[in-house]
Amino acid sequence: MLAMEKPWLSTQELDNLQLGKLKQSVAYAYAISPFYRRKLDEAGVRPQDINQLSDIASLPFTSKEELRDSYPDKLMTASDRDVVRLHASSGTTGKKTVSFYTRKDIDDWALMMARCFRLAGVTPKDRVHITTGYGLWTAGAGFQAGVEALGAMAIPVGPAPMEQQLELMIDFGSTVMVSTSSYALLLGEEVRRRGLEKEIKLRLALVGSERWSDRMRERINALLGIETFDIIGMTELYGPGIGLDCGYHQGVHYWADHFIFEIIDQVSGQPCGPGEQGELVVTTLSKEAMPMIRYRTRDVTRILPEPCPCGSPFPRIDRILGRTDDMIKFRGVNIFPGLVDDVLSKVAGVGSEYQIVLDRLEGRDQMTIRVERAEGPSPAEFSQLAAEIQKRCKERIGVTSLVEVVGYGDLPRSEKKAKRVIDRREND
Ligand code: ZN
Repeated sequence: MLAMEKPWLSTQELDNLQLGKLKQSVAYAYAISPFYRRKLDEAGVRPQDINQLSDIASLPFTSKEELRDSYPDKLMTASDRDVVRLHASSGTTGKKTVSFYTRKDIDDWALMMARCFRLAGVTPKDRVHITTGYGLWTAGAGFQAGVEALGAMAIPVGPAPMEQQLELMIDFGSTVMVSTSSYALLLGEEVRRRGLEKEIKLRLALVGSERWSDRMRERINALLGIETFDIIGMTELYGPGIGLDCGYHQGVHYWADHFIFEIIDQVSGQPCGPGEQGELVVTTLSKEAMPMIRYRTRDVTRILPEPCPCGSPFPRIDRILGRTDDMIKFRGVNIFPGLVDDVLSKVAGVGSEYQIVLDRLEGRDQMTIRVERAEGPSPAEFSQLAAEIQKRCKERIGVTSLVEVVGYGDLPRSEKKAKRVIDRREND
């Protein structure tokens, strides 16, 4: 039985809580993990040197490479007696990234996830349809634990053929769905195609695991007649459920009683100023079986300095603009695919799907943005739309790109993560 959570903390209480837990967490990692002890010794920092929150900047970073190099269990900081589970993410190259959990880690994660569901307006009366994968992946198990901690009903379908997915959704009257954005779009289009809108009882969805544009969100909302909430997380930090956008949908609240978020300049490693964009670095404050100290996530975003209109004291980050490793270098300019999302989201008559194609012609880089027109009658002709997009790209991103507008449904749909960037330039 999980203990009930305290209601909102004040900002001051949160700061005090963070400092106390940071001291504890670093002292614990130093005492128990040879990996962190070596890193702190090399950086000349002792746990007792942390006296205020800003002292976190003196601690060394932990990188994705270090996580991979510690495969399979070199970063496990609790004994087999206390560790109750592991999860792992596939990772695009080489070894998996593994995360370990004590009983308390699992309970904390379930409460964070339940907090996400509650913030989205899910109640114990809801039936939550889980379409994400179970097994080594964190998503299925994480969502399920959160649904159960909240007291709603989990419908643990996982990835299944669309036919079966829709049948179960209709038969059991699922009111909430959990999925990736690509899958939500695919399902929405299928519901529309089959004319099942009246039989589907969904009212909202928690959508995560990849960056998605406002346009894609509007499209999913319209197709399914639902409200969608952006959920964030990663295997290295429990899994999904470490934050969610509230009903104002202006940035994602993160659970600052369990994490410290920092934004750093990805090149110099120095902290960015308030509201500045850079790489997200996360320190865990509660994790026992695998604490993370200043973990460089490679996600690019910013911390929103203003308080949210919803009144929550939990701080917010902007939506993830991209990853430091999927940043496109184009004619000497660094571009995040998220910026292109943003430009396209503001042009009327454009659909949610697009690709960025990079070529090198006679030694010169060329960018082509292939974008779908919106479904149904469109206010502008293809060529007018292309000209509009080209102009806005030039203004916003500072580069001239070719724009190719294609018909609705012409770009590939994916059940997993959509491939947005196609780089055909030779590496030289
Ligand atoms: Zn809010």
